[in-house]
Amino acid sequence: MANKYIDINTLKYQLFDIHNIKDLLKYERFSDHSEESIDMYINAVKEFSDRELFPFIKEMDETPAYYKNGEVFVHKQVGEFMRKSGEMGLISAIFDYEFEGMQLPITAHNAATFIQDAANNHLPGYAGLTLGSTELITHFGSKELKDTYVPNMLAGKWQGTMCLTEPQAGSSLSDITTKATPTNTGFYKISGQKIFISGGDYQYVENIIHLVLARVAGAPKGTKGISLFVVPKKRINSDGTFTNNDVQTVADFQKMGQRGYCTTHLGFGDTDDCHGYLVGEENKGLKYMFLLMNNARIGVGRGAVAIAMAAYQASLEYAQERPQGRKLSNAGKKDPNEEQCFIIEHPDVRRMLLLQKSIVEGGLSLVLLTSKYQDIVSATSDKEEKEKYNLLLELLTPIAKTYPSEAGIVSVNNAVQILGGYGFCTDFIVQQYLRDIRIFALYEGTTGIQSLDLLGRKTTMQNGKAIELLAVEIMKTIKNASKFEELTLYATNLGGSLQSVQKVINHLMTFAKKGQFEKFLADANLFMELLSHVVISWQWLEMASHSIDAINKKENSYSIDFHYSKIETMKFYFKYELPKIKSLAESILNDDLVTIKTEKTLLF
Ligand SMILES: Cc1cc2nc3c(=O)[nH]c(=O)nc-3n(C[C@H](O)[C@H](O)[C@H](O)COP(=O)(O)OP(=O)(O)OC[C@H]3O[C@@H](n4cnc5c(N)ncnc54)[C@H](O)[C@@H]3O)c2cc1C
Repeated sequence: MANKYIDINTLKYQLFDIHNIKDLLKYERFSDHSEESIDMYINAVKEFSDRELFPFIKEMDETPAYYKNGEVFVHKQVGEFMRKSGEMGLISAIFDYEFEGMQLPITAHNAATFIQDAANNHLPGYAGLTLGSTELITHFGSKELKDTYVPNMLAGKWQGTMCLTEPQAGSSLSDITTKATPTNTGFYKISGQKIFISGGDYQYVENIIHLVLARVAGAPKGTKGISLFVVPKKRINSDGTFTNNDVQTVADFQKMGQRGYCTTHLGFGDTDDCHGYLVGEENKGLKYMFLLMNNARIGVGRGAVAIAMAAYQASLEYAQERPQGRKLSNAGKKDPNEEQCFIIEHPDVRRMLLLQKSIVEGGLSLVLLTSKYQDIVSATSDKEEKEKYNLLLELLTPIAKTYPSEAGIVSVNNAVQILGGYGFCTDFIVQQYLRDIRIFALYEGTTGIQSLDLLGRKTTMQNGKAIELLAVEIMKTIKNASKFEELTLYATNLGGSLQSVQKVINHLMTFAKKGQFEKFLADANLFMELLSHVVISWQWLEMASHSIDAINKKENSYSIDFHYSKIETMKFYFKYELPKIKSLAESILNDDLVTIKTEKTLLF
């Protein structure tokens, strides 16, 4: 088992220096916080994660959640985690004072949750889903719903879930068939099946509150006919006792990773006695979910990049201690009388470590940046500022979800490679990280769906305004970096990559304008990858500029080596990763449309 799962200095450097969380404290919503209080919060969560999360990660994989006689059983640490998360105010931190929250910026919350994700990714989802489902109630629910459910959910006593997926409706939510039938007594009768529901049932909470998407009879077809309901596992009687609400746990899916985080199959209304309570108005359910979806998607990116961080730390530790082979001498000969060197001295191992570092820290930076945009959007009263950051947030959210998830898999795969044969063995944790991270590119919208969203909706919205705003932000970084002689080459390089993005968009738009949408979107995944590399290069240039400036000004919050490591990792990303956009652009600009289905049978 590795000793370390996170580089906390880098997290704090990004939070306080690169993304300047103090910028947010000028808004009234966050004015009770200070850099010191946020630092204390981060330290408290780190201490909590060291004690209550990291020690259980392996055990939770080895003793997965299971189903027996209609119930799901999980590791006992899930109960401890939820109880303590409630007591420490970790679930309620970002909520308004009205709900006993702390009005903590989401940026600080995501930094703190990143620590938990890195420590043990099987646990934070239980709290995260409770947070997300409670947010739906506080934003769109009636006073009665808020009074009945919010306090116990935020206290970690009741679990919250999100029930969207059905056997025939995964990526395509317009095909949801779960039924909601109105009654004369204020509730709806719910019936249907939901699959893959995370945190859907377990023994350590008093109640489970499902936020269920369903269709009221006669509602329009498609996404415009979907409503949102609160469906508790147990109904709450006026004297505070419970009555079973006809929600059955049908199964717990057995998975390759995140095995301690239960994933259930639920049946609603088998005996026609499942009560659901409408949230907001009928037929607006999906709209409500999507209004809060940015946070959930950024949370997925955060979780993925945290696992990649933990795997990087484990492989770095191994590479520093594993003797194997000898360094090539200048004459190109190895001297067998010399002692073996540690593998961290071999250039190929250093390449794999730097690749991980560049993905992890670049991905983390994007997660914190988008979190900051969310905070600005929620806190500012300036219309123009809100609109600008909202557009940037909309554009960057699919990337913040997808890049950490996809590049994170590559990153963790390199961690396994560094451990050689031991990487494949269960004595070492990296194989678990590889299994755990795999789900992130699937749930909360697959990579394919995120890419369609990025190219089909976000790039085109308001005639490309968001992409223009992004270019302006990137140009600011380029201009600033150009002030440092050591960075001019990289600044020019990033400027050139912006031109490639524009060329690719112009090419694809010709299809969109002609109404040839299949051609327009066929290579959306490639576009996602291309734009991701540009965005992550932007983050690295920003970090390198900051570090050069800190070295020049002899700032001593971090060591000179710490800053050099940022500058060198930027160079690595520009040498090995950014050039990939050339081949991606070439493929996108190539008009051979071999992936579009025609009369010919290609796939046997
Ligand atoms: C461990 C786990 C936890 C989960 N937790 C939850 C949860 O808490 N709540 C919940 O509601 N759901 C949850 N899900 C469900 C998850 O969100 C879905 O699995 C996911 O959205 C994909 O749906 P699907 O599995 O039906 O795959 P499909 O939608 O069948 O997709 C299969 C493949 O086809 C591609 N594809 C599908 N449609 C298109 C298209 N139009 N264009 C291009 N490509 C397409 C996809 O990208 C994918 O590669 C969870 C799933 C898992 C495995």
